[in-house]
Amino acid sequence: MEALERLTRRQLDVLRAVQATATSERGAPLNSIAMSLSISAPSALQHLTAVEELGLVSRYRGKSRLSARGELTLAEYRRHHRIAESLFGNLGLSPREVCRAAQEVDLALSHLTIERLCDAEGHPSVCPHGEPIPPCSGRRGAG
Ligand SMILES: [Zn+2]
Ligand SMILES: [Zn+2]
Repeated sequence: MEALERLTRRQLDVLRAVQATATSERGAPLNSIAMSLSISAPSALQHLTAVEELGLVSRYRGKSRLSARGELTLAEYRRHHRIAESLFGNLGLSPREVCRAAQEVDLALSHLTIERLCDAEGHPSVCPHGEPIPPCSGRRGAG
């Protein structure tokens, strides 16, 4: 099972917060992660520990960074989200509506289902908001 399918929405938010907060010089401190998500430090720590156990984040002296696998998982998430947005866009939802609708399914859909949707939609390169859709990473080279 892919890491993405095991993540909760909160754990995903924590990954995004780590990516947004960490710089090349220093990892993301717990307090910044908690503040950016408007949750308490103990509950941020709980989500952080879960994604660390999945090998998506590494912590050193209290500062967190995404692992290579964590970066890949976020790219994968953006692909799922934006492919789902394209689908809902094709079904007639407005760009304002597609993002919310996509969040209802983006974590739940499997890689294979996303690939089939991508095929059916003619491999869109951008979502309805014009954001680039990352190429499939998990199955690269698989044909
Ligand atoms: Zn969106
Ligand atoms: Zn979008």
